Amino acid sequence: MEEFILNKNRNGIEWFSIPQFDKTNLVKAVFTTKIGGDSTGKYESLNLGERTEDHGENVDKNYEKVYEALSIKRTVSLHQIHSDVIKEVKTKDLKSHKGRLMIDSGDAMITNDVGIAVLTYHADCIPVYILDTKNRAIGLVHSGWKGTAQGIAVKTIDKMQIVYNSHVSHLLAAIGPGIDFCCFETGEEVYDVFNNNFPYAKNYCTKLSQRKYIIDLKGIIKRQLESKGLENISVSSACTVCQKELFFSHRRDKGNTGRMAAILQLL
Ligand SMILES: [Zn+2]
Repeated sequence: MEEFILNKNRNGIEWFSIPQFDKTNLVKAVFTTKIGGDSTGKYESLNLGERTEDHGENVDKNYEKVYEALSIKRTVSLHQIHSDVIKEVKTKDLKSHKGRLMIDSGDAMITNDVGIAVLTYHADCIPVYILDTKNRAIGLVHSGWKGTAQGIAVKTIDKMQIVYNSHVSHLLAAIGPGIDFCCFETGEEVYDVFNNNFPYAKNYCTKLSQRKYIIDLKGIIKRQLESKGLENISVSSACTVCQKELFFSHRRDKGNTGRMAAILQLL
């Protein structure tokens, strides 16, 4: 299990890469930080949230820096709704579009087309990257607690099995930076959802008081993937709430904050 690695571009932006994915030479796989952008105030500085109240021109400049650093020309995203909706993305549906394109509502995308950079927005919710190294297909998942409770990462793999004939023995997965065990305190209702749906959930939840729990969301996602049969899973130990020098955090900043992006593209 390898850690994500922090990189710095000449233009100043910093992002995490995934060694396990980079070694395949099949993909670009990235998680951005908040470092090196043009936004100010609560969006300082590399805010990639298009639906925040940040100035549009700053968000544009931030995307330009990300595109430059990663040598990409366009990104495809979804209007994220904490669902288990998974969309297949195809080059032919995107026509000659350049830049940012939000194609639909949902929380995961799959594609086997080369050159499509799929992008999900994050400010605590967990990104899950999936790569089929044999049939050359990818999946990218936005998995907050609601998506995790609905098993969206495993459902994304189910869909890759149907659409791309993916086999679990050829799949790599990476669970990115997000809210970690140290900071994900919840009420009993969240604990109940996990406990009612997953027999192993108790092992990932600690009771703090009568109605308070802390939950290891990344641990539950990893266990879901292992139950599906995956063995090669990288997990980032970075916590978006604790590490305020690196990350925007919805919880820490009480909803008024920017967004990082997970980006995955087949080469
Ligand atoms: Zn933390």
